[in-house]
Amino acid sequence: MTQYETVIGLEVHVQLRTKTKIFCACSTEFGASPNQNTCPVCLGLPGSLPVLNRRALELAIQTGLALNCEISGRIKFDRKNYFYPDLPKAYQISQYDMPVCGKGFLIVEMKKSKDEVVEKRVGITRAHLEEDAGKLLHEGVTGGSWVDYNRAGTPLLEIVSEPDLRTPEEAFAYLTSLKSVLEYLNVSDCNMEEGSLRCDANISIRKFGAAQFGTKVEIKNMNSFRGVQKALEHERHRQEEALESGGKINQETRLWNESRGETVSMRSKEHAHDYRYFPEPDLVPFTVSEQEISTVKQKLPELPQARFERLKTRYALSPYDAQVLVAEKSLGDYFESCVGERISAKLASNWIQSELLGALSERKMNLNDSTVKPKDLAGLIRLIESGTISGKIAKEVLPRMFETGKSAEAIVKDEGLVQVTDTKLLEETTERVVQANPKSVEDFRQGKKQALGFLVGQVMKETKGKANPKLINEILTKKLS
Ligand SMILES: [Zn+2]
Repeated sequence: MTQYETVIGLEVHVQLRTKTKIFCACSTEFGASPNQNTCPVCLGLPGSLPVLNRRALELAIQTGLALNCEISGRIKFDRKNYFYPDLPKAYQISQYDMPVCGKGFLIVEMKKSKDEVVEKRVGITRAHLEEDAGKLLHEGVTGGSWVDYNRAGTPLLEIVSEPDLRTPEEAFAYLTSLKSVLEYLNVSDCNMEEGSLRCDANISIRKFGAAQFGTKVEIKNMNSFRGVQKALEHERHRQEEALESGGKINQETRLWNESRGETVSMRSKEHAHDYRYFPEPDLVPFTVSEQEISTVKQKLPELPQARFERLKTRYALSPYDAQVLVAEKSLGDYFESCVGERISAKLASNWIQSELLGALSERKMNLNDSTVKPKDLAGLIRLIESGTISGKIAKEVLPRMFETGKSAEAIVKDEGLVQVTDTKLLEETTERVVQANPKSVEDFRQGKKQALGFLVGQVMKETKGKANPKLINEILTKKLS
């Protein structure tokens, strides 16, 4: 058992879903040819002036409200100065002391086991607007690098958490919850591969019970939420080893190397940037009225946390099931459409989570492109509910639905899968099975209950899975007692 407590805070950069850049009218579309989406403003040419994109501000306020942040009425932009070739103006327009969103919090649901979901409240320090930089391309270039300014000026919201996270798993759960909120809000496409969601982490360790934080290390260069978790696990271990062997932690920035599974020192505190922030003179501070904020608030959609509570109470789902269904908006939508067809919520939840998702992943399909629509799945579940087919047969019908595009009802009818409830036929089959398995019959009479399960299985086999297991159970129990 370790004697150290881990302290983690995360900085998440979210690319906001706007048609145009934050300070000019250039397109934000991904995948255009290099430097196609540029103009004098985002190239930082002398004499050009920035104009704030109203939509970007609105999306920032929406996100802030969803994260329970105070929205500041007074907005100011600042210049963050540093020199790097991907930054054409040699400064980035960002926000320093007056961010759009102040203190807030996010409730994170963490699945501990099948029956337990634990809630954790993670503080949000702030969220501010800024412009993205361009992209340097080194691969396949000899004698230098290329630069693509299409991304320069894309609106970003940087969301900074309090150092409230205590384990790498909590960090993973926080990121998952945050992404879920952003998806429900539809403020970003949250595509990590295309860089629309990026995360840096701060981590330190301290002895349990210590009042002071340990020395903080910043980790960059993680490409996935699992990557963040792995990097933090490695870094926690590295810091513990350093302290245990009498060393100390340097305040520094480290890069996560995914293929080697370790963090590598990038620059120390002495080499840290001094950004010399100062107010952006080309954008005057301005006021957002209470009225404007409440207009945005009224338009907020239902958020994951509220949906989680609603699904639990309305459909009597376990916290675990509700959590799984809510985490991805499309999954929750699918479930609710299914239940809208008046079938059992519990059955729908089970079938979606296991059979449907399994079938989709086998076919490398997304839920959104599923050819089996909610009403189709509901049709299948209704056949189980009415006793027309057994759950076992239903599991064979679902793949046929994907293959043929036919309804469950049509498949069951065409392929003669209707459950056998003909008592006379079942009596006869059961009698045959009992005759053929004297050993199991004897075992059952000696008190070995599992022998009954075997005999039921034999009858199922004889009827090619079409018998009603409950009925066979009754017949067998009567016959043997
Ligand atoms: Zn531009």
